[in-house]
Parts: sequence; C-alpha cells; structure tokens
Amino acid sequence: MSPALDRGSAFRCGYVALVGEPNVGKSTLMNQLLRQKLAIVSPKPQTTRRRTVGIVSGEHYQLVLLDTPGILDPKYALQRSMMRTVGEVLSDADVACYLMDVTELAPGAIHVPDAVRDFGRPRVAAFNKIDLLRAKERMIPLLQETADLGLFAEIVPVSALTGEGVARLIEVLVRHLPEGTPFYSSEQLTEQPERFFVAEIIRERVFCQFSEEVPYAVEVEIVEFKERPGAKDFIEAVLYVEQISQKPILIGRGGHAIRSLGEAAREAIEEFLGRPVFLQLHVKVAPKWRRNKEALRRFGYRA
Ligand code: GDP
Ligand code: MG
Repeated sequence: MSPALDRGSAFRCGYVALVGEPNVGKSTLMNQLLRQKLAIVSPKPQTTRRRTVGIVSGEHYQLVLLDTPGILDPKYALQRSMMRTVGEVLSDADVACYLMDVTELAPGAIHVPDAVRDFGRPRVAAFNKIDLLRAKERMIPLLQETADLGLFAEIVPVSALTGEGVARLIEVLVRHLPEGTPFYSSEQLTEQPERFFVAEIIRERVFCQFSEEVPYAVEVEIVEFKERPGAKDFIEAVLYVEQISQKPILIGRGGHAIRSLGEAAREAIEEFLGRPVFLQLHVKVAPKWRRNKEALRRFGYRA
C-alpha cells in the first residue's frame, strides 16, 4: 500500500480540547458532535466549570472530546481553578479546537488567547453560530484574517446548534489526530460517572431558573445515589449557596422555587439516565465557597 493510502485508512485516536471564550458554544458543540446531550448549556457565560469528557467513535477514528470552561481573566479561586483546568486539558490534548462566536468577531479584532497560541500541537479553529449570520459573505474577511495569523491548520465554519459543518469539523479533527488503537469501546459516550452528570444537570436547571449572581453562587453535591431493587433510584443532592441571604431565593415562597427546580431537574435526569428517579434537594450555606480553597477542594476542584 502506498504511504498516502495507508495514512488515509489508518485508525486515528486522540484527545481534542474544546476551548474558547465563555459562551461561544463549546458545550453545545460537544453535544452536537456526540449527538447526545452530555454537557450542560445555558445562555449565561461560565456555565461549564469542570472538564467534561465525550467520546465520538467512527469506523476509522475515536475522538475523545474535552469540554472546558471558557477562557477568562480569573478574579477568584473558583475561576483560577477553572483556568487551571483549561491549561491541564490543553497539556493533555493532541489537537486544540479553538471555537469562536462568529457573530462576535470583528475585522481587525480577532483574539486568540495565549493558552491557544502556546499550544504545541495542531490547532483547528471553528467559527460557530453561522446559523445566525444573515450574509455568509461577512465571514470571508474574518476567515482570511484568521488564516493570516498562521496559527491554525484549518478553519471550519459550523453551527453547533443546527449541526451545519459539523461533519466536516470531525473530518478535519480526525486528520490531525495521531494513529493509534481506540482507548474506549465504540459504544462508550463518556468516562465520567452518572453522578457527575446528575450534579451538572441540577446546576444547569439552576442556571435556567435563577438570575444574576445566584447561579454562580450555587454548587451541587450529590450526597446519596442509591439504586433500589423494585423502586426508583434515590438521589439526594445538596445545593450550596455562598450567603445566608441566597437560601430563601433558592427555596422561594412556601418552597415554590425549590419544588419547581426539583421537578425540572428530575425530568432532565430521568431523560439522561433513561429511568425514573426520586430526587430530593436541600439547600445549605457554604460561606464564600468560590473564594475558599478548602471548600473548592471539598467540591472536587483542584485549588
Ligand atoms: P460555552 O460557554 O462555550 O460552553 O457555550 P454554550 O454551549 O453553553 O452556549 C452558549 C449559548 O450559545 C447557549 O445559549 C447556546 O444555545 C448558544 N449557542 C451555542 N452554539 C450555537 C449556535 O451554533 N447557534 C446559535 N444560534 N446559538 C448557539
Ligand atoms: Mg460550556
């Protein structure tokens, strides 16, 4: 077989870091590539706090996607931990996929963070949210300018929401992966445990239901996850807030807010797990946990 043919048919497998500024659509893209909702998504920035693993397997490839928090200037301990996660994910990745929101790009102002510039292996850029562009020609100078940076092996316009361009993105990412045997079985979607995603789903519902600072002040801990023979799974979760004053906001008048949160979270968890569950929520205060290294470690962040 000629080397060219050999290269085309070889099995490729490796880690792809999904990185970019907050809200550009990294988690939406991860779900679209997986064809399943795994990563939580909200219209608010900084929804994703932890590395999330999604595995996409094809006949000749396995992409291990690593969704990350959006790159920002950290202001407090939690954000510093989030940025450490971005750094660690990049240091483990074979390919960096740098996602940009095309509707936020302006000629002469395309910004690529140092963490991406310093990445030593192939970088692929993706222009996301092209479904929102009324005139696709607007992209041409932006594509040119991004190409001229000389940082990216390829630039792919996509819509993480509609799936447009996503097949091409997979092709491009695979082309830059090393050859190797698969790390996971082809049916496996993630390597993280169910309870991780259950906590994430509850946090996502908090982002949807509450406004301003409240969702940022909430951390979710699963304290009990019990499969019961002949009965629904029993899940008990604690929602930690930063200040006593936030507790009544989460609970609501007569417990109304926490009840509707519990209902929405339970439905989403059942859809994710594919089985009915019993969900019990409590609210507790962990004073200033976002700024407190000890509290962050307890919640499983590397602080
Ligand atoms: P992340 O912070 O980068 O992970 O961004 P998310 O995936 O949480 O998405 C942020 C917001 O952008 C959400 O409201 C998404 O629905 C929206 N979004 C993401 N991708 C697209 C897209 O391709 N088109 C449109 N119209 N909206 C998108
Ligand atoms: Mg995200």
